Amino acid sequence: MHEASLAGGILKLVEDAARREAFQRVTVLRLEVGQLAGVELRALKFALEAIAPGTALDGARLEFEEPAGQAWCMACSQTVPLAARGMACTGCGSYQLQPTGGTELRVMDMLVADE
Ligand SMILES: [Zn+2]
Repeated sequence: MHEASLAGGILKLVEDAARREAFQRVTVLRLEVGQLAGVELRALKFALEAIAPGTALDGARLEFEEPAGQAWCMACSQTVPLAARGMACTGCGSYQLQPTGGTELRVMDMLVADE
């Protein structure tokens, strides 16, 4: 499943940082998951919690930011809100939309403990 492999990638990133910066564990992990990132937030949270025990993420609090989706409409030449990929322009009904926001999936920040 998609979110499980994403969770594995996030864990690897965290453990690489832990080695590089010599901390033992993460207390708070902040992730940015855009509305158009194609990620089911609850599934990602569940997958992260499932792999956390025994890792640097054990006991970490997960916080999510969800930037709203937006797109540039080529038909009416304006930026419009886009709740999901594949939806039409709210202004003119065109499907010629180029997502410009809300596609992010990244680790924003982590608070760490080294004891
Ligand atoms: Zn439009």
